[in-house]
Amino acid sequence: MSSKPVYVVFGVSGSGKSTVGKALSEKLEIPFYDADDFHPRSNVEKMANGMALNDEDREPWLQNLSKNIEQWSKDGGGVLACSALKVVYRKKLESSLYGGVEWIFLEGSYDLIFNRLTSREAHFFPKELLDSQFETLETWERGITIGIDQGISNIINEIELKLKMQKSQIGVVGLGVMGKSLAKNMLSKKFSVSVYNRHVEGKEVDIAKKFATNNSYVPKGFDDMSLFVNSLQTPKVILLMVNAGKAVDLVIEELLPLLEKGDCIIDGGNSHFKDTIRREKQLTDKGISFIGAGVSGGEEGALLGPSIMPGGTEEGYQNCKEFLEAIAAKDNSGNACCNYIGPNGSGHFVKMIHNGIEYAEMQLIAEIYHMLRYYIGKTPDEISEIFNVWRKQQKDSYLLEITANILLKKEGDQYLIDKVLDKAGQKGTGGWSTVAALELGTPLSTISEAVMARCLSAKKDERVEASKVYQITSSNTINDDLFLEELEKAFYFGSIVNHAIGFDVLKQASSDYNWNLNFSEVARVWTKGCIIRSDLMEKIVTLFGNRNDKPLLMFSEIVQILNNDLDALVNVVSKSLKMKCPLPILSASTNYFLNYTSAQMSANIIQAQRDYFGAHTYQRNDKAFGEHFHTDWKKL
Ligand code: NAP
Repeated sequence: MSSKPVYVVFGVSGSGKSTVGKALSEKLEIPFYDADDFHPRSNVEKMANGMALNDEDREPWLQNLSKNIEQWSKDGGGVLACSALKVVYRKKLESSLYGGVEWIFLEGSYDLIFNRLTSREAHFFPKELLDSQFETLETWERGITIGIDQGISNIINEIELKLKMQKSQIGVVGLGVMGKSLAKNMLSKKFSVSVYNRHVEGKEVDIAKKFATNNSYVPKGFDDMSLFVNSLQTPKVILLMVNAGKAVDLVIEELLPLLEKGDCIIDGGNSHFKDTIRREKQLTDKGISFIGAGVSGGEEGALLGPSIMPGGTEEGYQNCKEFLEAIAAKDNSGNACCNYIGPNGSGHFVKMIHNGIEYAEMQLIAEIYHMLRYYIGKTPDEISEIFNVWRKQQKDSYLLEITANILLKKEGDQYLIDKVLDKAGQKGTGGWSTVAALELGTPLSTISEAVMARCLSAKKDERVEASKVYQITSSNTINDDLFLEELEKAFYFGSIVNHAIGFDVLKQASSDYNWNLNFSEVARVWTKGCIIRSDLMEKIVTLFGNRNDKPLLMFSEIVQILNNDLDALVNVVSKSLKMKCPLPILSASTNYFLNYTSAQMSANIIQAQRDYFGAHTYQRNDKAFGEHFHTDWKKL
């Protein structure tokens, strides 16, 4: 049986704990327990002799109750009547179950309780006893408070209503970097939140409980999934922030028996879009909404306002829209950088391409820094200044901003960047973007080049060996001012081409998967909160706002910029290669752009070669489209 809450009815003597507790247990059809029945023999004897218990006496009793509370929960729940006048007693009572204990405080005025006690005892009641109870009673910000100046059936109705109302509006599973920040973000927006983290003996212990107790907004923390789910309002909305892959399936498997039709699971991790398509189908068939929501912004963004890309059914999105849009970053007009992206895996696909664009933008800035530093001889301070100048020329971006800051960071009198190992990995979304583009048969030049550059960087030892073998020297013959002007243009050119490639993949996916993506809206969601927010992104919102179906490189404003700056790009790439300086993204952008703008490409030779060695046939430009020819190329 899955765990159930234990209700602790508490208050001073005479407040009606036993009466209310028993009535509640009957209504909920769970057992009733009286805390007084759990005292050790020594306490019973002391009380029988008219001696008051001290806190030392209470310790074994509270420990015993705490253990029992845990067991009752496992056995299907229960109601416990216990005075629990001090906070320290309450904390001990709930220590084994934490969020699984529901606190019900019975509140009554001194006079009301005194009169009740007097009539109950049918004779004089020692006033000092009640005085001391009221003096000891401490307030408790948790649980519900029920006034006892009403009949028992009203009290029970009020308890049920208040318990229902105090259920959390949303639950977060996985309190890692992102889960914690998103939960705090939700709490700051005044949502009531339950949090869950798995319990791994000796490793992951009381994570959710510690988060809950350390947080001033008092969320409910659980390491028991059924208690966590039980703490949520219906329909239940649960955000998963666990590692992509198997963990998501395991958590869904655990959640499923606890959910009902109409509930909603949001997967906020970087799941593969095909997994999301599979999960969405599996859960929709069971009547549960599944929203695959890409979240971008890192730890800080998650806390202060990330960019969110939710995909799934439109009805499912309605279940969680309120939360996601409230915690998202806001664009320049104050609208949430979160909107329904499209069906099934589209949200995670869009997030994957976001990350792909991010990979290439990072590499673009990195290679420009590298060239300026090691081939032109600029210091990190000078490069930081150059980037800051570009930022003021409507080329600002979050990544350029943070790089300008990174370059100023020193340890003693040394730049910290010089101590960072030049070895980057690629995991998940970067490589997935490349595979997805290949499956869709659409180019991904800059993004896949950035992924490959990271893969090459990872071969540090081999590179060091090769550098010794080849001993390549470079000579700098560059005119500083002119080159910097060209470099600024080349940077912007590369960035535009990279964004165009990213949006083209989205366009292809939208068409192949029938997602009906709105590219202006995707770009708008990316204007704040996410890692690729930039001045360029703002421009892209407007461009696609006018024509959703047009490739980015074909908008006249873009055509004008690229026409003006092509020579600068080509000069930068050729001068750099002459200096033997590698520029993966700028070279890839140049090649992509020159091929993209060529009516005649070299693929006629490819087709002839294929037909020569493999009789693959080819089409002719002087014959009808679709007709295929084979030639015996050896026969001249
Ligand atoms: P994290 O710090 O490693 O946290 C992962 C969480 O998943 C932990 O709470 C972990 O629990 C839980 N978990 C792992 N395996 C589990 C399982 N089998 N059952 C239950 N819980 C399990 O990761 P994160 O950085 O928060 O990232 C979470 C997701 O968001 C990932 O998909 C990530 O790619 C994505 N994301 C991350 C960022 C970022 O900047 N970090 C940005 C955007 C998106 P334990 O504590 O018990 O291990």
